[in-house]
Amino acid sequence: MAGGPDRRSFHPAKGRWLAGKGERPYFAGMAIREILEVPDPRLKVVSKPVEKFDDALKTLVADMFETMYDAPGIGLAAIQVGVPLRVLVIDLQPEDEEAEPEVCTAHGGEEHTHRPVRREPRVFINPEILDPSEEHSIYNEGCLSVPEIYAEVERPATIRARWQDIDGAVHEEAMEGLMATCLQHEMDHLEGVLFIDHLSRLKRQMALKKLEKLRKAA
Ligand SMILES: [Zn+2]
Repeated sequence: MAGGPDRRSFHPAKGRWLAGKGERPYFAGMAIREILEVPDPRLKVVSKPVEKFDDALKTLVADMFETMYDAPGIGLAAIQVGVPLRVLVIDLQPEDEEAEPEVCTAHGGEEHTHRPVRREPRVFINPEILDPSEEHSIYNEGCLSVPEIYAEVERPATIRARWQDIDGAVHEEAMEGLMATCLQHEMDHLEGVLFIDHLSRLKRQMALKKLEKLRKAA
């Protein structure tokens, strides 16, 4: 998932996290992979469960984090880098309330200040959603596979999630807010569904047309 255009903290300075301050979440040798974009047919593939919790999985997860932070985004599914496995990485990267605000020249706009963000990398393997709430919430969503396009999507406001970690251990947790939305957005990718598939046909066509225009202008 891409950060919303209205949430400055999701558009941190590219390179801030990768500035070599010993902050890399895994090991050296990680690689930024190419992110598939619509209308790549691989984005419609249903991903398969992970069965082997081996070094190849660890490398995939490390590469997914590197790719997500570089984009920058707050969530990424393995199929978005062309691997049809049920693997997600998420880092909402909240602003660090205890840090002093810093001058920021990112986001392509005017210089402004905001607090540096904290890294909270999370991995979800073979995730499931349990008892989604009847109450819904609406977020302005974006997606690294549908660049520069944002639209409001309605989803259950709270969920319980069950998943496995990188070693195969099972976890369960109640989620709300942006975390609940982001996990549902990423889980859609495992079924070959994009956030624009939740829009009306007209809105989806308008979004895709806008993307086409932006690509031509680039
Ligand atoms: Zn997405």
